[in-house]
Amino acid sequence: MKTMKAAVVPELGGKLEIREVPVPEPGPGQVLVKMQTSGLCHTDIHAANGDWPVKPNPPFIPGHEGIGIIEKAGPGATLHQAGDRVAIAWLGSACGHCSYCLTGWETLCESQQNSGYSVDGAWAEYAVAADSHVVAVPGTVSSFDAAPLTCAGVTTFKAVKVSGVQPGETVVVYGIGGLGHLALQYARTFGARVIGVDVEEAKLELATGLGADFVVNARTVDPVAAIKDLGGADVVIALATSPRAFEQAFSSLRRGGRLVCVALPADDKMTIPIFDTVLGGKSIIGSIVGTRQDLTDVFTLHAAGRTRVIAEPRHLDDVNVCIQEVLSGQVPARLVFTF
Ligand code: NAD
Ligand code: ZN
Ligand code: ZN
Repeated sequence: MKTMKAAVVPELGGKLEIREVPVPEPGPGQVLVKMQTSGLCHTDIHAANGDWPVKPNPPFIPGHEGIGIIEKAGPGATLHQAGDRVAIAWLGSACGHCSYCLTGWETLCESQQNSGYSVDGAWAEYAVAADSHVVAVPGTVSSFDAAPLTCAGVTTFKAVKVSGVQPGETVVVYGIGGLGHLALQYARTFGARVIGVDVEEAKLELATGLGADFVVNARTVDPVAAIKDLGGADVVIALATSPRAFEQAFSSLRRGGRLVCVALPADDKMTIPIFDTVLGGKSIIGSIVGTRQDLTDVFTLHAAGRTRVIAEPRHLDDVNVCIQEVLSGQVPARLVFTF
C-alpha cells in the first residue's frame, strides 16, 4: 500500500504528530490531489485545540489552504482531470440543492463538509477532495501565493463585500495577520480609506507597507480613542482572536457603521450595548469564508496585480513550532508548508 506523510491531530488539545498513513483512494465524485503547498490558518489551530462549540473528531488531518495537482479522478469525477492544478478550501463540499446552495450562499449550506475539520484536509502529501468543490488555480498565480488566498484571501474578500463598503468610507482592519494583510488590500481595492490595528509593531509596519493609511498599536494606545480621532469607522473587519478586540472594534464604529465578525475566538461571547446599536443604526454581520466563485475572483484579482501575499515557507515536520510562531504573533502574515 502506498503511504504518505501527514500532520495528524491525535487528540484535541494535544501536539500534532507527523505520521506515515495510507494515501487515500478517491471515491465517487472525488479527486486525489498531490499537494504542492498548504497554508497554516489560525482556524487549524482552533481545530486542533477543539476551541469551538462544534468539535472535529480526532484523529484528523487539518489544512484548508491546499494547492496541488490532481493525480487521479474517482468514479464520476468529470469536472476536473488529472494534471489540473486546484485549490482545496474550507468549503469541502455543499449539497448543491438547498435554498442556500441555490441562492449563492453555499457557504451557509447545512450539509456542508469542511476540509481539515469534518473531513481530512491538506496538511499531507496527498488529499482527496470533492471534484465539485475544488477550484481551478489560474496559471499566472503561483502555488505559494494561491495557498493563503484560498482561505485568508477569499474570507476577507467576502467580508469586505458583505460590509457594503463604499468608496471613500473608512475601513478598520482589526488584526493584521494572515487574514488581515489581505483584508486591507481588498478594502483599498473597494476604494476605502484603511486603518490597520494590531498589537505587534512588525504587523503595523507590514500594514503600512501594504498601503494602510493609518495604523494603531492597540497595546500602546487606546484603539477606540485613536480611531474616533480619525473620524471613526464605517466598517470594522474583526480578525483578532479575542472578544475584547471585538468589543473595541464595535466601539470604534461611527453611526451607521458595520462590524463584520470573522475571527472565531475560543472564548465565544462578546458584550455589545443595545442602546448605542439602536440609536447609532449600527450593524453586526457574521461572515464565513466565501464561495467557489469568490475564490475564483480572488485569484483573478491576484493575477491582475491587486494583491500581494506575504508569507514564509515551512516544512510540515515543523508543524508544532509553526503553530507556536503563529500564536506568538511572530510571523510575517502567513506560513505555508511546501511539499
Ligand atoms: P493570525 O494569527 O494570522 O492573525 C491574528 C492577528 O491578530 C495577529 O496579527 C495578532 O497579532 C493580532 N491580534 C491579536 N490580538 C489582538 C488585539 N487584541 N488587537 C489587535 N490585534 C490583535 O490569524 P488568522 O489566520 O488571520 O485568523 C484570524 C481569525 O479568523 C481566527 O480566529 C480564525 O479562526 C478566523 N478565521 C475565520 C474565517 C471565517 O470564515 N470567518 C476564516 C478564516 C479564519
Ligand atoms: Zn482558514
Ligand atoms: Zn446546500
